[in-house]
Amino acid sequence: MHADAATLKAAAAQTLKELEGRALGPRDRLAIPCQDMPAQDPMERIRNMNEVALGYSAEQARVEASRCLDCKNAPCVQGCPVGIDIPRFLKLAAAGDFSGSLAVIKESSLLPAVCGRVCPQEVQCQAPCTVGKSLKGVEKAVSIGRVERYVADLERAEGRRAKAVVAPDTGKKVAVIGSGPASVSCAADLRKAGHAVTVFEAFHRPGGVLIYGIPEFRLPKAIVDDELQGLRDMGVSIETNYLVGRTRKLADFMSEDGFDAVFVGSGAGLPTFMNIPGENLVGVFSANEYLTRSNLMKAYAKGEAATPIYEADTVAVLGGGNVAMDSARTALRLGAKKVYVVYRRTIKEMPARVEEVAHAMEEGIEFRFLENATRVIGDDKGRVRAMETVRFELGEPDASGRRRPVQVAGSEAELAVDAVIVAIGNGSSPLIPQTTPGLNTDDHGRILVDENGMTSLDGVYAGGDIVLGAATVILAMGEGRRAAASINRRFLG
Ligand SMILES: Cc1cc2nc3c(=O)[nH]c(=O)nc-3n(C[C@H](O)[C@H](O)[C@H](O)COP(=O)(O)OP(=O)(O)OC[C@H]3O[C@@H](n4cnc5c(N)ncnc54)[C@H](O)[C@@H]3O)c2cc1C
Ligand code: SF4
Repeated sequence: MHADAATLKAAAAQTLKELEGRALGPRDRLAIPCQDMPAQDPMERIRNMNEVALGYSAEQARVEASRCLDCKNAPCVQGCPVGIDIPRFLKLAAAGDFSGSLAVIKESSLLPAVCGRVCPQEVQCQAPCTVGKSLKGVEKAVSIGRVERYVADLERAEGRRAKAVVAPDTGKKVAVIGSGPASVSCAADLRKAGHAVTVFEAFHRPGGVLIYGIPEFRLPKAIVDDELQGLRDMGVSIETNYLVGRTRKLADFMSEDGFDAVFVGSGAGLPTFMNIPGENLVGVFSANEYLTRSNLMKAYAKGEAATPIYEADTVAVLGGGNVAMDSARTALRLGAKKVYVVYRRTIKEMPARVEEVAHAMEEGIEFRFLENATRVIGDDKGRVRAMETVRFELGEPDASGRRRPVQVAGSEAELAVDAVIVAIGNGSSPLIPQTTPGLNTDDHGRILVDENGMTSLDGVYAGGDIVLGAATVILAMGEGRRAAASINRRFLG
């Protein structure tokens, strides 16, 4: 049960009063209560696309930040792929200097409102947090991401975005392909160094997965647009509807268009299917297509958007990651009466964020663990009417360290469904490697780079999911920054 925002704010205000004027030692800080995140009621939110988590109040942000022990070795910073000075931004937030706090975050990250919402902090900065360790639970660590979100949201709400400082023009030109978090971070760092930067994006709207993949109820698109505006304000130009490999080949950027370097951040947008019978029936979708229709093409705005959405009462989502959670929760909001998540291991092995699984469960999504689909069954019109499933048991650990699911003989059963969403992972976008001779990839189609982020082609760098395989926003950002630093070094000779 979620406490409402007003109750949480009042309790935090009381705590602040009690803390005022006191010199706080580590023991006092450890005794400060963790601040819960207010959220929309589950039964309300499944009928709208609005954001689920409502964000801290100023009082809550200050109290939560006051829990930080300002550790000398700052293990949280080691856990942050872009190395934000976390204790420093928390100290300023605890003192109520929210703009100072945000300025510290922005030294290392262009997308604080995004990262504050979608980063898996529980396995990154919050995992090694001394507070969580002392209180024996990662869920009791300082909620670094929630405070980050608060200070970023406040700046946007007050319309006072500080313009980034850009160095004088260097005369160098860089092309950045794709506009996801890897490209955005790379473009920002390059522009700050004074180079001319043009971003080329295949879709009609920039932002990558932040726009077309992660749903509105988890990451409002207005926030992504606003953070991208920061990039434009710096003088980065963004060309949309530009498919590199078709509109123009990558090699032409340097040989004919005068770019001095290229960064490729084309992501992992290639859907993976199960390769089971019946996957070509009407009503089977890749998570990519399903989420893109809803997020980018606004198909949920029935009657307003031109993109149709497939009407289904009972939906099965195959997979156990964030993409599966997003698909299941989207299906519910698009009108499904029953949504199953079918996953062949147990909740313990699920790669999705704990918070997202908890939210999905609160919303009434039914998890069918230790089960998988072997066949999709159609009706006489070629539309999905059921799925054949089998049951699994967990055997010995496999190469990933997770226990291997072993099929239970004779466990075949039929599950009535009228849509199936396949969310078992994405592969690397193949177009650029296919159309760029000499650009080396591994067996999975991921572009190979050296320790500087440079590919097999001189002056062409790459980073994010196209290098790592489907990863995370912050890892992609870290890669973009690394490549930008290498490009700067290259220009300096
Ligand atoms: C549904 C979903 C939910 C997720 N949830 C989370 C989460 O909660 N937390 C988290 O940390 N991570 C999450 N991720 C993963 C995260 O979004 C990615 O790791 C991250 O976006 C990768 O960034 P990127 O910049 O490498 O690529 P992307 O964000 O994929 O952006 C690549 C961009 O390149 C463009 N492009 C591709 N080919 C071309 C071309 N030839 N020419 C021009 N443009 C091109 C694409 O259109 C796209 O806009 C999620 C992913 C998905 C799909
Ligand atoms: S590890 Fe936790 S307590 Fe220590 S500085 Fe980082 S956020 Fe603060």
